[in-house]
Amino acid sequence: MAKMKALVKKYSKPGLWLDEVDIPEVGVNDVLIKIKKTSICGTDIHIYNWDDWAKKTIPVPMVTGHEYVGTVEAIGSNVQDVKIGELVSGEGHIVCGHCRNCRAGRRHLCRNAKGVGVNRPGCFAEYLCIPVSNVWHCDPNIPTDIFSIFDPFGNATHTALSFDVLGEDVLITGAGPIGVMTAAIVKHAGARYVVITDLNPYRLELAQKMGVTRAVNISKENLNDVMKELDMKEGFDVGLEMSGSIKAFESMLSVMCHGGKIALLGILPASAAINWEIVVFNGLTLKGIYGREMFETWYKMTSMIQTGLDISSIITHRFNYTEFVEAFKLMASGNSGKIILNWE
Ligand code: NAD
Ligand code: ZN
Repeated sequence: MAKMKALVKKYSKPGLWLDEVDIPEVGVNDVLIKIKKTSICGTDIHIYNWDDWAKKTIPVPMVTGHEYVGTVEAIGSNVQDVKIGELVSGEGHIVCGHCRNCRAGRRHLCRNAKGVGVNRPGCFAEYLCIPVSNVWHCDPNIPTDIFSIFDPFGNATHTALSFDVLGEDVLITGAGPIGVMTAAIVKHAGARYVVITDLNPYRLELAQKMGVTRAVNISKENLNDVMKELDMKEGFDVGLEMSGSIKAFESMLSVMCHGGKIALLGILPASAAINWEIVVFNGLTLKGIYGREMFETWYKMTSMIQTGLDISSIITHRFNYTEFVEAFKLMASGNSGKIILNWE
């Protein structure tokens, strides 16, 4: 069997190992993708560090990674609308196709979704095999760097477009790569003020470069003062939680206007408690977000880039895949935006 290079979770301990594994077999409905570029996600850091979530979720050995762009190398006998050599990316959640939501076309709500690079082999490799139903055809006029981050850009888009933001004041907690991309999207979608919070100066600077109204260091500044400065009277209309920190979520709850809407992407600790009186008496709407809408989110991402949305400044570093240890350390430090690994 032909072999390929891959970044593998080879042992049940911290780290990843550059290894040689079998090139995946292409089933009748599958597409084999030759990987050009991948990017590193926070999830990959969890897998690298081998935290409790990773220990209970990731089978060993496993090829990791789920953010990528590449070209079609081979197709199964049943595949019609994908051509060899075509530039593609792909949705990382493989859905079951027969639960209630899948059958109704709400595939992002599939109860049996499996994750590329989480529950099945991923893209930190020379080749990746996915079902044709997960393939996204890439507009060749959009840079491949941007397609390599379409997966997290999709999380940002799904969250940002959850509620109407035209003319609204939006608060984003967490200026990680997804929070910063979300800021750019809500501005593009017509928000009035976009305020983002973080504790990390590097990330706040990335947000400022993306053109937010205010990047707030929450360890030094208070959101009520920021609201006064902007002459905001009743609070934020839309809140997008993208830090996974209960402190951040609490700070958001206290400055939402009555009837405000909150989308939660950050993964808050299971035991986190909030003041439910604020939610109930102020009539707030809370919405959990998982993944991307298939494939409406992908469509919107493409059309926003085509109409001038520029997220390129979120990509701060590029490495060859052989330099993955350095790249993962940098990503884990928090002093980066998105980091690309090159496979060509
Ligand atoms: P990230 O960890 O790079 O960014 C989170 C940011 O929040 C960091 O910059 C951190 O400094 C900041 N932060 C920490 N405490 C804070 C506080 N009290 N106030 C304000 N900011 C604070 O993560 P990311 O890759 O940008 O992803 C954002 C979140 O979304 C993470 O929690 C991630 O696990 C989650 N996520 C969820 C999904 C999903 O499908 N629901 C998908 C991808 C990522
Ligand atoms: Zn399903």
